[in-house]
Amino acid sequence: SPPSLGSRELQLHDVFIAVKTTRAFHHSRLELLLDTWVSRTREQTFIFTDRPDEGLQERLGSHLVVTNCSAEHSHPALSCKTAAEFDAFLASGLRWFCHVDDDNYMNPRALLQLLRTFPPAQDVYVGRPSLNRPIHASEPQPRNRTRLVQFWFATGGAGFCINRKLALKMAPWASGSRFVETSALIRLPDDCTVGYIIECKLGGHLQPSPLFHSHLETLQLLGAAQLLQQVSLPSLSPLPRNALVSTAGCPMSPELQGLRLLAVPHLPRQH
Ligand code: UDP
Ligand code: MN
Repeated sequence: SPPSLGSRELQLHDVFIAVKTTRAFHHSRLELLLDTWVSRTREQTFIFTDRPDEGLQERLGSHLVVTNCSAEHSHPALSCKTAAEFDAFLASGLRWFCHVDDDNYMNPRALLQLLRTFPPAQDVYVGRPSLNRPIHASEPQPRNRTRLVQFWFATGGAGFCINRKLALKMAPWASGSRFVETSALIRLPDDCTVGYIIECKLGGHLQPSPLFHSHLETLQLLGAAQLLQQVSLPSLSPLPRNALVSTAGCPMSPELQGLRLLAVPHLPRQH
């Protein structure tokens, strides 16, 4: 039989990358991403924000998505944006949904390498576990009862990916207004809600990957060679000094250019 679409080797143009941002960070955070990794994944990357921005719109066109979400750091506001990302992914027809925050550097080559390791028939939710144990939540039940549930979830701030097969199953809890409702039900943030839907509602499992990184970690243990194998890195944290030293004098690959920019020690920290 002819090779089906599902078995063709994964390419970057099969991946939908959603970046969550807010008006206040268009300049202080997004500029850096647009000048580095987003410039190499432009076709695949969509920026989800909460206020119109003429300059950005001109630069990104339909890849800037101005949601109706409020510009707050509240659970509903953040879940509202994640919901918009999820719906746009479903509409895109692409094979993988990957989310990052606007303080993440994404390495497209490493991302593709990782995603290619998963068999197409599998449901996949991959990212860095937020805690070293499952989180607990109470799930409201009929007649004022509650049920204690526990599940693993990937830190949104380190980035995570979900394949289409699994995303389609999530739709009853995640599409349209339902993602915000589900998040409100368990009273937890959007990244926890993703884990809850996948593990508690669908019986799926987070596949832990050490290749995703948020600013919550220190990267001191990563050498320069390892750095290039990571799928995501915090864009606002200073990288280990040896990463800078060992890239000096080498021919500049686009990845290294991005990393060098990130490693500029005087970048303001936003946390
Ligand atoms: N964010 C947002 N609205 C806000 C504040 C933050 O959409 O009012 C986004 C921000 O752009 C980022 C994510 O939420 O993509 C996490 O924000 P931040 O990195 O400031 O917080 P932390 O990582 O400490 O949770
Ligand atoms: Mn952050």
